[in-house]
Amino acid sequence: MKDILFLKPLFFEKIWGGNKLPEIYNFNYTNTEFPLGEIWGVSGHKNGISEILTSPFEGMSINNLINSEPDLFGNKTANGEFPLQIRIIDAKEDLSIQVHPDDAYAAEHENGSLGKMECWYILDAKEGGTIVIGHNAKNHEEVEEMIRGKRWKEFIREIPVKKGDFFQINPGCVHAIKGGTLILETQQNSDITYRVYDYDRLQDGKPRALHVQQSIDVIKAPFEPAVAEHEKLDVEGAEAEKLVSCPCYTVCKATVNGTAEFDWNQPFVDISVLDGEGSFDGTPVKKG
Ligand code: ZN
Repeated sequence: MKDILFLKPLFFEKIWGGNKLPEIYNFNYTNTEFPLGEIWGVSGHKNGISEILTSPFEGMSINNLINSEPDLFGNKTANGEFPLQIRIIDAKEDLSIQVHPDDAYAAEHENGSLGKMECWYILDAKEGGTIVIGHNAKNHEEVEEMIRGKRWKEFIREIPVKKGDFFQINPGCVHAIKGGTLILETQQNSDITYRVYDYDRLQDGKPRALHVQQSIDVIKAPFEPAVAEHEKLDVEGAEAEKLVSCPCYTVCKATVNGTAEFDWNQPFVDISVLDGEGSFDGTPVKKG
């Protein structure tokens, strides 16, 4: 067992942010411009790189650490960067409808970037809340017709959402968070996003640009839900399940009442404490 490394959270104000995170996770926060919308718990991305809080690596960035001590991470990097981002997102407004490319398309069209695979664990959702996952076009031709014809109501697949739901979002899957949803997102370390539709909203008097051609190129049709596995794991002292396993990550959820011992059998593990309090390997931890 290697030591646990605590990371400094990164805060991002967003025009659509819900500002509920300080209350939920019990910390002080003073806004400078917009409401607080995201907290990045772990990230190696250039837009926000996690800093280690635990000695002897205190003050180091996670990318410096993964390059200088690669064995701590099972030698898994993405172009010399920490390969994942894990964020909590609190949306008060509907976010624009997006799709991500896969690694091959991003490499060819986005200067060798990685594509993006991501997943959402729903921490909370408002009564009667919905989420956008997938589309209703029968085939790729119809995807193009519906997008070019702006037939958004027909095209977009909106489904009910509640606390505890889990969605795997593979490249090519249309998706969007709607207002009133709090999610824990795990994603590949990339920010290549194509905007499919923005509800015809205006920003500074103009609609935001849509990535029409790229969206049509990468959206998979017909839509097939990525099956969440919900496979029960055999862990003494905990109720544990595997939510998904894909080439970029495996996500598990565990509820511990008492003491439990985990044999992860992985190069490294990121842990988010979603509720309650206790200790981890002797170190006190609590929600958030
Ligand atoms: Zn996304």
